[in-house]
Amino acid sequence: MKVPAYYSINPDDPDVHHVYDDCVSGKQIPPQNKRSGTNGYRMCEHCAER
Ligand SMILES: [Zn+2]
Repeated sequence: MKVPAYYSINPDDPDVHHVYDDCVSGKQIPPQNKRSGTNGYRMCEHCAER
């Protein structure tokens, strides 16, 4: 399902944002690392091709 943009604050994660809650990459972000918005990051490749 499409959701408002979110990203991970974990510096080990790629600098991308996600727009699907079931993105294979985005769904691995634990709640404590998840923030709303894009933070100026490009869209994740998995989200972009959907
Ligand atoms: Zn994604």
